[in-house]
Amino acid sequence: MKYALVTGGSRGIGKAISIHLAQIGYVVVINYQSNEKAANETLQTIQEQGGQAELLPFDVSNSESVQNALQKWQDAHPEEYIEVLVNNAGIRKDNLLVWMEPDDFETVLRTNLFSFYHVTRPLLTPMIRHKQGRIINIASLSGITGLPGQCNYAAAKGGMIAATKALAKEVAKKRITVNAIAPGFIKTDMVESLDEAELKKTIPMNRFGTAEEVAALVAFLASDEAAYITGECISINGGLYT
Ligand code: NDP
Repeated sequence: MKYALVTGGSRGIGKAISIHLAQIGYVVVINYQSNEKAANETLQTIQEQGGQAELLPFDVSNSESVQNALQKWQDAHPEEYIEVLVNNAGIRKDNLLVWMEPDDFETVLRTNLFSFYHVTRPLLTPMIRHKQGRIINIASLSGITGLPGQCNYAAAKGGMIAATKALAKEVAKKRITVNAIAPGFIKTDMVESLDEAELKKTIPMNRFGTAEEVAALVAFLASDEAAYITGECISINGGLYT
């Protein structure tokens, strides 16, 4: 049994990643924060397709919540370890910096960046012991180019990309790869409030991406074929930025 944990695996990009990883044989641990209904739907889809998955709710921004849940999981699976970790959970709270409230800056940093520390650290030791692991961080185009209204989000995603490169060097000898993916506009709940018709005119491919397209890239980075790729940030954005 090979286990993969997908944070924010209940909806959007995380849902597509969970379904894809289950299709290629992983037992998927689906994390979510509060939307139990969506998490159960994702679990059901995987099971209907003959795959295996389980739910593990916790708040990625809260170190105690993460620790308790991961300990509970390890106690229930004493012989197993999480071989693939996808740090996907994220939120955005956009505003121009002059109007950005402290809480909106802090919450986005805690959910999109501190979460990397909270979730990755406890799962690293078992990966090191098994000399095998894949860590895939879902960053964003905003973390590479910066986007107006996203000082908080861009800082978090840029930090995640930098942490990806640093950690990749720390654990390369242990056969653990660490990579980031920087999606452009992907059609999920997160971008529902955006003007898709206007924005897609700025994208050379003239469309938003799909969660399944991001999931296929995650599956490749998790595969044996990607064993020599580490410390990279791979863009998937329809040519919006190259
Ligand atoms: P969605 O809003 O569709 O889904 C977000 C997921 O994250 C949900 O499963 C949600 O759980 C979970 N989540 C949010 N906060 C927490 C938390 N504190 N603890 C645990 N889980 C949490 O987002 P997307 O699928 O669009 O985004 C996924 C990732 O991709 C994010 O990191 C985002 O920043 C990144 N991204 C998205 C882009 C896009 O265009 N969509 C572009 C670039 C990057 P619940 O259901 O319980 O709320």
